[in-house]
Amino acid sequence: MLHPIESTAAARRPAAPDPDDSPWHTSAACRSDEAGLFFAPSKEPTAARLAREEHAKRVCARCPVLLECREHALAQPEPYGVWGGLTAAERRVVLARRRRREAELLDARRLTARIAG
Ligand code: SF4
Repeated sequence: MLHPIESTAAARRPAAPDPDDSPWHTSAACRSDEAGLFFAPSKEPTAARLAREEHAKRVCARCPVLLECREHALAQPEPYGVWGGLTAAERRVVLARRRRREAELLDARRLTARIAG
């Protein structure tokens, strides 16, 4: 799926229906912001990247579909760009925490079943 901001440009030209085109991104706050804000240009210096990402996150903070966007980006997972107020590195941390928590819950269920059985 295109990033919500990219779907604005895509919407300007006739296109075949996208089966993955869910309605949440039609309300995306980033549809009216500059496209370069959400993805890093090549060889972007660290200070510029941090400033750009903070700016993108401020757009996300006022977005009515932040949670839908974030969950989409985590589920794919989307490897690049700011989605749902999180950078790619931050999404990797969230996914790692979720996997660890799921593993802990599975261990707890197995232990409970062993004790009960
Ligand atoms: S949360 Fe951010 S990236 Fe996602 S749709 Fe909203 S403004 Fe765009």
